[in-house]
Amino acid sequence: MSHELRTPMNGVLGMTDLALQTDLTHEQRELLATVKSSGETLLTLISDVLDFSKLDAVRVNLEPVVFALRERLETITKPFLFEAKEKGLTFRWGVGADVPERVVADPNRLSQILNNLLSNALKFTHSGKVELGVEVEAVSQQRARLKFSVSDTGTGIEEDQQKSIFEAFSQVNSTFSRKFGGMGLGLAISAKLLQMMDGRIWVESQPGVGSCFHFTIEVPTTAENREHDSEDGLRTVEASSKLQILLAEDNLVNQKVARRLLEKQQHAVTVVPNGLEVLSALEQQPFDLILMDIQMPEMDGFEATAAIRLREQDGERIPIIALTAHALSNDREGCMSMGMDGYATKPIRLQELIREIQLVHGMHLGEYQSKGEPG
Ligand code: ADP
Repeated sequence: MSHELRTPMNGVLGMTDLALQTDLTHEQRELLATVKSSGETLLTLISDVLDFSKLDAVRVNLEPVVFALRERLETITKPFLFEAKEKGLTFRWGVGADVPERVVADPNRLSQILNNLLSNALKFTHSGKVELGVEVEAVSQQRARLKFSVSDTGTGIEEDQQKSIFEAFSQVNSTFSRKFGGMGLGLAISAKLLQMMDGRIWVESQPGVGSCFHFTIEVPTTAENREHDSEDGLRTVEASSKLQILLAEDNLVNQKVARRLLEKQQHAVTVVPNGLEVLSALEQQPFDLILMDIQMPEMDGFEATAAIRLREQDGERIPIIALTAHALSNDREGCMSMGMDGYATKPIRLQELIREIQLVHGMHLGEYQSKGEPG
């Protein structure tokens, strides 16, 4: 269903991006910019509605596994770091020293909740900072209660609205929120997921000052040593450069959109229609990056990635960005766990693609993260 709904948007948004890069009159540019932002809003709505109906209908199964919490948070926060920088906001995250390195929970669902809270925090904050903190709130022999807090210095929420925002389709100020897209489902989805995870979610907020969303999850305690926090600090790498990009995509319209977007960015693009041809292209010339559609005939993106990673076991590792029509958040995790480094949803949007390319190439990163006392 998700695929069918999103695929037609491909041509619409991709071609609009391309049209916006041609010579246009002022009026034409304004009209197309509206097409683009309406299209993007529609996409967000489609994803939210699909997600919510899935939660209501099937009862999502949680899939708890052991995972490295700090590593996961690093992946989750990366795109927000970039977005915050673009908006001129400070973004920090930190994990208390007593929080275990490895926890047992459903990492995809946790990401989904954090993505929602962080994107709201950035959406409703125009100056100041957004912070994410994790601490141990309570601990017994078998279980620990972890508390996550996302605070912002944004618009804040009136007291009488603070309960209803966790209900489906609720937005505090519809005209204001409509400006940003979304339809009041994110928090309802998060609250539902947390209920399933024996947790809860609440907000403290003061209009004009900011908001702090807290949620807890219960995790089994595992007898395990904590490793030290990964390195802090700055990561700066060389400026954006021309890349040799291998694009694996079977759909002709998508091929055309992606090729032209990338060529406009001065990259050199080689297009192949399936995974088998990815492997043979790699034998013929070196590439800096692969953009890999997941669903392709003959050999799909996951199989091709597995084959590439197998071949390069002791050589250099080529960055692979997955291209997929699935917008639901667990696809990102799926792609990462299959050996890919980045993820962009189709319809391809120029900004998202550029951001992923920059991220996997480690370009641009300013303040990376700072550990310690948030809030
Ligand atoms: P959406 O953001 O898609 O509208 P949510 O369920 O995520 O839906 O949020 C519901 C409403 O709660 C938002 O429309 C907004 O009015 C309010 N809200 C959520 N997070 C914040 C925040 N950090 N600051 C101010 N208002 C917020």
